[in-house]
Amino acid sequence: MTSFDKLIKYFERFPGIGARQAKRFAFHILTLEEPDVVELAELIRTINTSVATCPSCYRFHSIYNDVLHCQICRNESRDRSKLTIVERDTDIDAIERSGTYNGLYFVLGGMVPLLDSHDIKKLRGGTLKHLVAERAEQDLAEIILGFSINPDGENTGRYIEMLLKDTTTKHAITITHLGRGLSTGSELEYADSETIKNAFINRS
Ligand SMILES: [Zn+2]
Repeated sequence: MTSFDKLIKYFERFPGIGARQAKRFAFHILTLEEPDVVELAELIRTINTSVATCPSCYRFHSIYNDVLHCQICRNESRDRSKLTIVERDTDIDAIERSGTYNGLYFVLGGMVPLLDSHDIKKLRGGTLKHLVAERAEQDLAEIILGFSINPDGENTGRYIEMLLKDTTTKHAITITHLGRGLSTGSELEYADSETIKNAFINRS
């Protein structure tokens, strides 16, 4: 396999990228100036040392002055009584863009598929359970399930409710569903700010 074909194969593994787009990316790189290619290669090579997972919400964030926690978790003005659980990092970006939510987050790291739940071990269920038990002793009052409205999203919501049932019952923590404000089939990541805003207002 040539380097060019190898590069195409790498791009094909990117989320949402098909064979044709992968080829377009590879051809685009051929048109870049040498310094840009060097910078791009260097950015990819060093991304692991400049980005870390926040030990509180598990989103990726740029490391600055060796601070472990991300900007959102460090922000004292965020409402610590609310915790929104999302599937992935990009969902947080979409919610933050809408400027409608001031609580904290937790990135589950995936969904629980309705038909095949053996991938459940890859999710951060255990970590979440531990974190919620800890926060319940402090000021946690509401958990918002921010999953997409589709069978897998609903199944993930049921899984989380079961997982946290003991703690939420004991501490009278409310669980609300953000997805009910979104239309069927819509993914949080691609929803516009107005839709997300309404989803938060109409959560139930
Ligand atoms: Zn964080």
